[in-house]
Amino acid sequence: MLSVKEAIQHMLKSVHPVTESETLSIDAGVDRILAQDVLSTVDIPAYDNSAMDGFALHLTEPNQTGFTVVGQALAGHPFQGQLVPGQAIRIMTGAQVPQGANAVVPIENTEQDKEGEQVRLFNPAQLHAHIRKRGEELVCGATVFSTGHQLTPVDIGLLASLGVAKIDVFKRLQVALFSTGDELVLPGQTRRPDQIYDSNRFVLHAMLERAGFSVLNLGLIPDNKQEIADAFMQASTQADAIICSGGVSVGDADYTKQVIDAHGDVGFWKVAMKPGKPFAFGKVNGSWFFGLPGNPVSATITLQQLALPALYQLAGRRSVEPLEIVVTAGETLKKRPGRADFQRGILRTENGITQVFSAGNQGSGMLSSVAKANCLILLDAEQGTLERGELVRVQVLEKPFR
Ligand code: AMP
Ligand code: MG
Repeated sequence: MLSVKEAIQHMLKSVHPVTESETLSIDAGVDRILAQDVLSTVDIPAYDNSAMDGFALHLTEPNQTGFTVVGQALAGHPFQGQLVPGQAIRIMTGAQVPQGANAVVPIENTEQDKEGEQVRLFNPAQLHAHIRKRGEELVCGATVFSTGHQLTPVDIGLLASLGVAKIDVFKRLQVALFSTGDELVLPGQTRRPDQIYDSNRFVLHAMLERAGFSVLNLGLIPDNKQEIADAFMQASTQADAIICSGGVSVGDADYTKQVIDAHGDVGFWKVAMKPGKPFAFGKVNGSWFFGLPGNPVSATITLQQLALPALYQLAGRRSVEPLEIVVTAGETLKKRPGRADFQRGILRTENGITQVFSAGNQGSGMLSSVAKANCLILLDAEQGTLERGELVRVQVLEKPFR
């Protein structure tokens, strides 16, 4: 059996990023992966501007509190002129700070005479205060994003603030998705007492889309070697990767591995993790194949822990470590030494102290434990039961999991 780390390393060594790219408008860029470095072609801010509604002053003597008001500046309507010592203008947030001004005083620290010709400061001004300097956030030429960065909503805003309208991104990864199992029916269909609803395809589809991939949902395949083989062959002509849940174990109706053995290449198929263990990685024609266990918890966790790093690399994304923190166990966490455990946990903060608790029954078929969880408790293979109060690593569950 491979360790989780070995399994991931094996896959990362095998898959090579896509190279095809396309040009997009930034509105369509969220979750896409940059195929170019983005350098700023402007200074941000582009000009010195006021951080407050107030007065911009030309200050020469530190204790001066009286100034002559010679005009005003609003955002988009600059003051045309230059301040000389002792002069001020009324200025609003975001307005350009005029030549000669070297401080801004917030309006609430001032009073103006009736005619609006003089302003008096309640306290002396601080030199350079409340002025957002040109280029203080970003200077022209600075690298804002590197190739392989996956864009977030905030990143799209940042691109817009730089004046960038179009970006080069890698082609969206095409992922074909199947379920296998004679016991499965679709929600909404009539179900015999010996059947269950296909839930994996719904979770996995949503997770893959949230990860930024394009999903080709190819439905349910019965436990039949020929039908599985046909489905995989067909999918391999359309997709960069094929993901299938169920049938990767050693049961009498587990044909996935046999099919990959016969028609493709099996990389490995057992990983020392819980939930998980049966997991197949390989190749069918030109497509990478990921065979996930059928148990719903195992399917989601092996997708996230094992398949996603490889899929992201395939899609051109630079590797990003998931957020991990060390907290105290709020209760006993049962574990047998042997495999690495990814227990479903709930992080709770009370009185400023964060502890982790079990999300309940850890059965690998119980998707409700994943629904309740906000983290995975990471327990190394050798680790045994952890007592309350001991330190433990947890991985905060974020997109695409939640
Ligand atoms: P398998 O890996 O095919 O041996 O399946 C292991 C367990 O997961 C069995 O109890 C299956 O009924 C269940 N299972 C397999 N596929 C799905 C699915 N798509 N949705 C929900 N449960 C499934
Ligand atoms: Mg099955």
